[in-house]
Amino acid sequence: MTGIVRIGVEIHCQLTGLNSKLFCKCRGDYRNDLPNRNVCPICTGQPGTMPLLNNKAIDYSCMIALALGCTIPSEMGFYRKNYFYPDLPKNYQITQYDSGGIGSVGSNGKLEFGKEYARIRRIQLEEDPGRLIYEGGDMDTSFYTLVDYNRAGTALVEIVTEPDFKDAATVRAFLNKLTSILEHLGVCNTKLEGSVRCDANISIDNGKRVEIKNVGSFREVEKALNFEIIRQESLSSRNIEIKSETRHWDNERKVTKQSRAKEEEQDYKYFLEPDIPIVLLDKSYLNSIQQTMPELPDKRRTRFVEEYHLSDHVSQVLINNKEMADFFESAVRIYSSPKEIANWLVSDLMSYIGVSKTDETSLTDLKIGPRHIAELAKLVDENSISRHTAKSMLNRILRTGEMPSQLVGQFDSSKIIDEKILTKAIEDTFDSERAAVIDASSNPSVINFLLGKVLKLTKGRADPQIALSLIMDKLNKN
Ligand code: ZN
Ligand code: MN
Repeated sequence: MTGIVRIGVEIHCQLTGLNSKLFCKCRGDYRNDLPNRNVCPICTGQPGTMPLLNNKAIDYSCMIALALGCTIPSEMGFYRKNYFYPDLPKNYQITQYDSGGIGSVGSNGKLEFGKEYARIRRIQLEEDPGRLIYEGGDMDTSFYTLVDYNRAGTALVEIVTEPDFKDAATVRAFLNKLTSILEHLGVCNTKLEGSVRCDANISIDNGKRVEIKNVGSFREVEKALNFEIIRQESLSSRNIEIKSETRHWDNERKVTKQSRAKEEEQDYKYFLEPDIPIVLLDKSYLNSIQQTMPELPDKRRTRFVEEYHLSDHVSQVLINNKEMADFFESAVRIYSSPKEIANWLVSDLMSYIGVSKTDETSLTDLKIGPRHIAELAKLVDENSISRHTAKSMLNRILRTGEMPSQLVGQFDSSKIIDEKILTKAIEDTFDSERAAVIDASSNPSVINFLLGKVLKLTKGRADPQIALSLIMDKLNKN
């Protein structure tokens, strides 16, 4: 029997849109560097250095807080969260903390997704630690561990929800919506490895909470939660107590494993960071941020329905993936046939890429761009090519990047697709094969005989699928 499942999530998203780290001038993009090259005295915590807060990170974190309907305090502060771990060169993380102190950038928000919503408990701006590399294994099995501080000090926004989710699929839907918002705000490229990380906490029947960490991708979050729900239900059905603990997701074996006992909040000995002044977030500043905010997914979906007359469903599918929505609008600007173009994207192109996932092919990896789809739609609208030919063309363009217009004539040119020519050949066949035409109503296999005759008449050049459907049409009319 399934008990009451309550799941909350904690998301760390990197502000990849920033040029520099949160408190120093090292590059924000650390991904292509050799280890420990993107570092300086500040982000490695050398004595006597002072952090200098990145203003753009304040703008970005306020944007996220506003987009998630949070309350933003008039003053926000930074705290030292003290713990000793090799990926943390200062032995404390500069973060925010709001239990009674000076607030973090946002609290008490709400995010709607489909017909559901989740409450946002708080949002805070903080620095990312470095990275540990377990040589020759994982945390338990490697012979030695290396540390790379290139990432240390890059800006993160932590988003914590209330335990409002009842199952893993709902968490996934929430994460997809959140990703789309972050992409639309332009603050985080969610497709970069490790740019959005999700921890979860889960309890059953108001029992003890178990934290799940180390989950690599959104798809893995869903698997980890489903595993954990079954594990906890199995324990409680045998009256075994569920312990409050932190468990790591083992991506290889697809199980959660117990890890070191988690520090309690008081162990971190939070105190106000003395080297960073209190940040004032007054009304005029927040108004200016609000005014420069890009269009968000919900508004964009409504606009797609009104401006392009797309269905709510198709609009939603496009907007779930900002790249796809941008691709759509670029193609429509080249050739204004929104429904046809949306159809190509939703029913054909999407099967070639991962939709709303952080770990799959991106549209920009494909050789096909808005110009291609616009031209393809135009050729179909003008009856220059059949939809069937267009689909085969798409397949080739995905591999070669050729323009559809270049392919007309040479692509499948041996086949006759012109309905007028085909109809004439079919009429001639029907005239000469009257007995077969009469038989066809009671014996469907005769249809193939008629098709064979049409192919013979056109010296094998008739497009068989189009010819067949025209034959069927004609038989139905007879
Ligand atoms: Zn630095
Ligand atoms: Mn954090």
